[in-house]
Amino acid sequence: MNCPHCQGQLRAGKASYTINRNGYHLIIDDVPALVCEQCQEPLFTEDAVRLVQQMIRSLDTRRQELNLIPVAV
Ligand SMILES: [Zn+2]
Repeated sequence: MNCPHCQGQLRAGKASYTINRNGYHLIIDDVPALVCEQCQEPLFTEDAVRLVQQMIRSLDTRRQELNLIPVAV
């Protein structure tokens, strides 16, 4: 399999996974991925993407709970 962006060679490596959601922003370092030797673009495996999506679902719920915390002077 080659890089979908530039057709370069892919190698097993690690890359940061950046998540920008409504209410929080997250960067997960060193996620296992195929990384293009040419353009450095990472290609995350289905397993990694599935796990990150589970993390997002959990974080979304917790983030909503944060909005409900009362603040009083
Ligand atoms: Zn590439």
